[in-house]
Amino acid sequence: MQDCIFCKIAKHEIETEMVYENDLVVAFKDMNPAAQVHILIVPKEHVTNFYELASNSRKALIMGAVTDAVKAIADQFETSDGFRLIVNNGKDAGQTVFHLHFHLIGGEVLGAKLV
Ligand code: 5GP
Ligand code: ZN
Repeated sequence: MQDCIFCKIAKHEIETEMVYENDLVVAFKDMNPAAQVHILIVPKEHVTNFYELASNSRKALIMGAVTDAVKAIADQFETSDGFRLIVNNGKDAGQTVFHLHFHLIGGEVLGAKLV
């Protein structure tokens, strides 16, 4: 989608260091990290949010790719003992980038901290 920052990052139109990539998703460090490890996992296809994903015919493929990404990133950053996966869905939940993304947060004891 035009003017979508995460579409541009996913297409490598904006230089961003990827920590993981497969056919369907990319992952990179959040520019404003909430913890030691804060990675965004982003489908390459533009999907507005998790609610909209339910209407996407490729939802099972996309979620499978997200699952692979989560495991690979948890292993890479040695957070398999404890991390959070967070989706802010919609503006009332604090979503600011309207291209679906999963926050993988860890690398420290997280307490009640939210994104
Ligand atoms: P949301 O509030 O929509 O769930 O989260 C959006 C996240 O994207 C925020 O944590 C913000 O720091 C991050 N973010 C926004 N724009 C960029 C960007 O251009 N590059 C990176 N690396 N992170 C971004
Ligand atoms: Zn997009």
